[in-house]
Amino acid sequence: MMKVTRHALGDARGDADAIRKDLQQMLSGDVDWRNGRLQGLNHFGGDDVLEIAEKAHRIFSSTNPVSRRAFPSVGQLQDEIIASAIKLMGGQGEECGTITSGGTESIFLAMLAARERFRLRRPDARPELVIPETAHPAFNKHAHYLDIKVIRVATGEDFRADPAAMERAFGKDTMMVVGSAPSYPCGLFDPITEIAQIALKHDVWMHVDACIGGFQAPFVKALGYHVPDFGFTVPGVCSISADLHKYGFTLKGASVVLFASEELRARSLFRFTDWPRGLYATDSFSGTRSGGPVAAAWAVMRYLGYEGYVDLNRRIMRMRDNLISGLQDLDCELVGKPELSLIAVRPRHADLAAVSDEMAKHGWILNLLLKPKGVQIMLNISHEGHMEKFADDMKRSISVAKNTAMRELSVEY
Ligand SMILES: *Cc1c(COP(=O)(O)O)cnc(C)c1O
Repeated sequence: MMKVTRHALGDARGDADAIRKDLQQMLSGDVDWRNGRLQGLNHFGGDDVLEIAEKAHRIFSSTNPVSRRAFPSVGQLQDEIIASAIKLMGGQGEECGTITSGGTESIFLAMLAARERFRLRRPDARPELVIPETAHPAFNKHAHYLDIKVIRVATGEDFRADPAAMERAFGKDTMMVVGSAPSYPCGLFDPITEIAQIALKHDVWMHVDACIGGFQAPFVKALGYHVPDFGFTVPGVCSISADLHKYGFTLKGASVVLFASEELRARSLFRFTDWPRGLYATDSFSGTRSGGPVAAAWAVMRYLGYEGYVDLNRRIMRMRDNLISGLQDLDCELVGKPELSLIAVRPRHADLAAVSDEMAKHGWILNLLLKPKGVQIMLNISHEGHMEKFADDMKRSISVAKNTAMRELSVEY
């Protein structure tokens, strides 16, 4: 840990203005995400969208979704968000879901439900999880918590999950198989339909990780782009994770996990009565939390409407298409055929570490990839108006990096 030179708690009361200034001062050392210098950690849908979200957050900041008895309002907002998410993801009528704090928690609840179902059938076995090597680390994190063995299977040459190789990794203790829509490293959809068929054949729980694509793919498809099916229209899909705080364009702390039926979701719930305060029941991992992120997500959905999401994605996909058509000029190639606005590119002859260092001098934080070696680019409205500068700086950085010695690449999230 860094040495702390100041304490949050002082002896005397602090001054409100000074506190605000201090906070702003501290932010000034961070990446300038508002001017497009960051990829991925923020998904900006415009100043108007952010303002709606922040206002809604403020109105609901003191509510606590842990109790529907005290705060039926948040319960209602959650139900309405879930209903919309189910509809977007091809609901067939029986689906249900839970609002969580993020993709990590959504994936946890799906894995918990799958493990509990598995345990009913094989109480003494150690469950196994079969995932593509491109799947998010959250799956390994929860496998660690839930004592599940993880088998990461190499992708095909197209960097998409290889269903045949995944099937070969199945055993009698396989409790879940996963496909991403799309995967985080290169933004490529795994063959969800094929993986789901294998899952059906072996009676294994199929989870679709649509944390990135869930709230983007339907709108990009509406724009006329080819997007494969990944939702409940695909037979065999048991659960889907989709992040509101990514392409739902809302504040962080909001995601959904959807289940094909109440029966499947029931295994993710927790109920307890053996203590002095009576029935304690929660539907997610957290206990007390703020209803702010829920209200923000609801307000952004109401504000944008289907139309608004299509419009934002039209602007974002236009940036993506322009970037892709200019790659030749940057001496970069595209990795695979990405469906959405998360893409990966490979500079042809340059040392990536040096490209990243050069870009950092101009304030850009690049997300590097180890396999294939490349740069991950994830676009949102904060990049609008900055793409030309990005391309210019990339071009310059790549030409500098061509003349430096190749270094061992170490990559951090
Ligand atoms: C972001 C993401 C996650 C994890 O979600 P958090 O919101 O960071 O907890 C999982 N899977 C994919 C594909 C993601 O993009």
